[in-house]
Amino acid sequence: MQASKFLTANFGRYDTSSIGSYMNIGGFTALRKAVTMDGEDIAALIAANKVKGRGGAAYDMGRKWSQARAVKGENKVIICNADEGETTTFKDRELIRQDPFNLIEAMIIAGYVMGATDGYIYMRAEYACFRPLLQNAIRQAKSYGFLGTNILGRGFDFRLHLYSGAGAYVCGEGTALIRSIEGKAGRPRMKPPFIKVSGLFARPTCLNNVESLSLVPHLLLDAEKRYASLGTEESRGTKMVSVAGNVNHPGAFEIPFGTKLRDIIALAGGVQGGRRISLLQLGGASGKVQAGTDEVLDTPYTYEDLAAIGLTVGSGGILVIDERTSVIDFLRMNQEFFSEECCGQCTPCREGNVHIALFLEKLKAGTITAEEIGLMGGIAEVMSRSSLCGLGETAQNSLLSAMHVFPEVFTAGGAHHE
Ligand code: SF4
Repeated sequence: MQASKFLTANFGRYDTSSIGSYMNIGGFTALRKAVTMDGEDIAALIAANKVKGRGGAAYDMGRKWSQARAVKGENKVIICNADEGETTTFKDRELIRQDPFNLIEAMIIAGYVMGATDGYIYMRAEYACFRPLLQNAIRQAKSYGFLGTNILGRGFDFRLHLYSGAGAYVCGEGTALIRSIEGKAGRPRMKPPFIKVSGLFARPTCLNNVESLSLVPHLLLDAEKRYASLGTEESRGTKMVSVAGNVNHPGAFEIPFGTKLRDIIALAGGVQGGRRISLLQLGGASGKVQAGTDEVLDTPYTYEDLAAIGLTVGSGGILVIDERTSVIDFLRMNQEFFSEECCGQCTPCREGNVHIALFLEKLKAGTITAEEIGLMGGIAEVMSRSSLCGLGETAQNSLLSAMHVFPEVFTAGGAHHE
């Protein structure tokens, strides 16, 4: 099976350090078209293609843009969330690395649609190597008049800023990300106020993921509606996925929605040594897990089919674990990540992570009691319902789904049953 080419159509076709090279393959044609359109029609185009946000929450993107347009305010802000902190997730990295000008163009279009004056790209600390690439793209876009004042003679002003995080996973959460740009500690805050009304520097703010934004110029130029012809009725078009773990060639791929999980894994070269898949986790560390059964592997990668087997698209990451790693060891590793990344601000998440880490060690040692297994599941439920932010709400998705999928592992003296 071949990877698909819609969002990645520009990959390898131009010199990513040269705006001239980008324009030679049609770069900024989408922006020129966008500024002749009503912003609401652009939001409607995104909605008609049923684009869901690619950061993980899968919120209806066209609706989000319409809502952002409707907010009153002269000084709106667009933020591109390039934090991509979920484990096993590195598809935005490829969109930045291989098509930086498309992202810049998408940000300017978003600014036009929303009536925003400023855009921020918030990029994770680990992607510092791409700063010069984006800084150069911003500088060149400015010198060509695509950024600044009176863009394309349409009386539209837009500035673009690049900001790097400092390595905290929780800063992928909208309010923490905003605080980080503001120079405050990157911790989430209670909502309301929602960021669409009071976000960065208390200005109305629209936050979109790299992949979501990168789709927009391509959709604007998709006169033949190729995107809508791909995928399924509910999951239109294509999706970037990144496959990691015990596969031969970990990588990021664009696939049409509806591709079977086993075919996606084949794109990554299949499982190392042809071993049996014991476990799959979709959507990064905060994602749920499933067993590597034929039924699961034959599941089409769509929002609706994955939901039917208890999984979600989430961040687009796919972790393949083969039979060499036990479910308990996988969960301990996942828990270690959340224990490290929890910001400690709210009790359910701070205390819950500590206790679950201890229970998992007892499960590993074979000393856990049936009562403690019940307590572990109870704490995980409390965390998912009462934590302040998405980190605590989703940290135990892997554990809760594993308890459902692999009940035999969660018995008193668990390690001896694997
Ligand atoms: Fe911090 Fe966890 Fe609470 Fe989020 S849920 S605010 S990461 S302690």
